Amino acid sequence: MQGLMMDVPLTITSIIQHAESVNGHKEIVSVTRDNPRHRYTYKDAFSRSRQLANVIAGWGLSQGDRIATLAWNDYRHLEAYYAAACSGYVCHTINPRLFPEQIVYIINHADDQFVFVDPDFWPLIEQVAGECSNVKGWVVMATPENMPETQLANVYCYETLLEGQSDQFLWPELDENAACALCYTSGTTGNPKGVLYSHRSTVLHTYATLMPDALGMSGGDVVMPIVPMFHVNAWGNPYACPVAGCKMVMPGNKMGDGATLAALIHEEGVTMSAGVPTVWLNLLNHLRSEGLRVDTLKQIVVGGSACPLSIMEEFDTYGVDTRHAWGMTEMSPLGTANAAGAHRDLHTDEEFTRLRMTVGTPIWGVEVKITDDDNKTLPRDGVAFGALKVRGPWICSSYYKLEGSEAHAEPGWFETGDVATISPEGYVAITDRTKDVIKSGGEWISSIEVENCATGHPQVAEAAVIGRMHPKWGERPLLIVVRNAEGADLQPDALKSFLDGKIAKWWIPDDVQFIEDMPHTATGKIQKTTLRDIFADYQFPDA
Ligand code: ADP
Repeated sequence: MQGLMMDVPLTITSIIQHAESVNGHKEIVSVTRDNPRHRYTYKDAFSRSRQLANVIAGWGLSQGDRIATLAWNDYRHLEAYYAAACSGYVCHTINPRLFPEQIVYIINHADDQFVFVDPDFWPLIEQVAGECSNVKGWVVMATPENMPETQLANVYCYETLLEGQSDQFLWPELDENAACALCYTSGTTGNPKGVLYSHRSTVLHTYATLMPDALGMSGGDVVMPIVPMFHVNAWGNPYACPVAGCKMVMPGNKMGDGATLAALIHEEGVTMSAGVPTVWLNLLNHLRSEGLRVDTLKQIVVGGSACPLSIMEEFDTYGVDTRHAWGMTEMSPLGTANAAGAHRDLHTDEEFTRLRMTVGTPIWGVEVKITDDDNKTLPRDGVAFGALKVRGPWICSSYYKLEGSEAHAEPGWFETGDVATISPEGYVAITDRTKDVIKSGGEWISSIEVENCATGHPQVAEAAVIGRMHPKWGERPLLIVVRNAEGADLQPDALKSFLDGKIAKWWIPDDVQFIEDMPHTATGKIQKTTLRDIFADYQFPDA
């Protein structure tokens, strides 16, 4: 027997309709090149999205065609997200930090028809446009006076295009399984792979992220997504905020600037924010050096890489709860969230410290398991390490135009490429990327845990651990460190003694090497492939 409920398609067009009728007066504040503090409302935003939809309707595209963006977090980017997807096209967000040849590859692989570009990225477009012959037009997201000088053909000004357009547009009725957005992984090995989100998966992910123990935004929150809209849809914030009715604060090209972030938090009353650990290091450095407070800020979400305990503990001193989350491009991205800080009174101090080092429990909708090399499911005892696999309605079932990926080898599951433990209470702890695992004498060492401890040293800015050949143990860990301003006299032995007692004795790296700058990927993660290249010929002193 079938249920008797209405079959209303789950599309993100419903977010516009809901936000306009319920939260239309809430503000969106953006930093852009032509206005350091642009402000308007959701009503204004979606009215301009309809103007933009009228512009796009004149381009003669077919439904499902890809329209790309290469832009910061700001109001024009938000307008483009909705105008493209709700008109029945796919909004392909491009990460400007990818190598130019990767950008050419993904523009051509996605067969992007038009590209919206922030003026900051215009030099990049000048470099790659000649190799992107299918692109019919480049739209610079600026006012006429901020347009770049260029010899390129088919270059349009965003504000000029919108001028005089009607703000009436009848959004088409879309199939909920139609694609709405496309994002490529950063491809540390091989070409980037495309993850194609559907309206349905995005709506379900939005509901899930809004749960109290997930990201848990409410209408009273002022949310500042620092995590970029150009990678995995800013962890879904551009969808969740209009639904919840949060005021949004978008830092534009100042996302890495601690001083601007502190000013935005203070002046706009930001209560919640989301970003990768490096962003928080910048903010904390600024607050510490200037003696500032962030009194309105209640919660930050940290993900993308492991969050060192030292970051969480420093935020504690500001009265800010750190919510550690884990996910990936292929998961829309949210998989787990750690809300232990919101239930602080349920845990002893010791238990709380142990729990907060994990990435929390799976959010409802995401199933997880760990398996061994023979694909046997491992116990949830908090000890057994295994390949972490996931499934759920917002997890990719295959890559765009790429059949038979290894990650999809087990039917119905996606292999994340992470190694993890799961505790009896369901807390997931990420120990490594599969390709970064260090095996010493046949036993695994968690590089993430060693890095977390090393980052807690007061003279360390950033730390990474890689495995290097060792004649006796096969592999041993080598700790690579960037010292901070106070760290000039930091010596290897001092660091090793610091780690002693915090991690298993045999996990303590055999040696420490100091470097000036840590190499990072396009999504801000430490680039271990580059470190392995730099230290390719390295030999341990005792080896
Ligand atoms: P990429 O394009 O580099 O794959 P993603 O943002 O999709 O970028 O990266 C996902 C990966 O980032 C995860 O598989 C995991 O290895 C790592 N990651 C994300 N969040 C965390 C976290 N909280 N702790 C440890 N690793 C994390």
